Amino acid sequence: MSDTIKENGKCLCGAVRLTAHTVDTKVTACHCGMCRKWGGGPFMATDCGTDIIFEGEENIAVFNSSKWADRGFCKQCGSHLFYRLKGNNQYFIPVGLLDDEEMFVFNGQVFIDKKPSYYSFANKTNDMTEAEIFEMYGAP
Ligand SMILES: [Zn+2]
Ligand SMILES: [Zn+2]
Repeated sequence: MSDTIKENGKCLCGAVRLTAHTVDTKVTACHCGMCRKWGGGPFMATDCGTDIIFEGEENIAVFNSSKWADRGFCKQCGSHLFYRLKGNNQYFIPVGLLDDEEMFVFNGQVFIDKKPSYYSFANKTNDMTEAEIFEMYGAP
């Protein structure tokens, strides 16, 4: 069972605000090449489910990043807002956007085999390789 909480968040400039009602308190880092190209480093996000409301939607740009997901960002300040699965409209929100950062626990890393060697996290985490992810969720 996962613990979920309600969280508010906003982008750097404040043009986009969000309220998510089922935020997982566990944070996962993704080391895949697309996430690192997008953000310049690993993508640290939490599963926010589908129950999420955005304010300032006119400031959200959506990039169609793959067959299975879109990535959203603020048109004004460039803050990354979400990774969204197309199949079920599930949102993964960068944890840095959310208000109560002390609520979160960093406990997972995915695409660990794609992580470049110049950094490593010291946290004790559950790690998954690309092959393990595709085995669990199905290959894209
Ligand atoms: Zn912004
Ligand atoms: Zn990724």
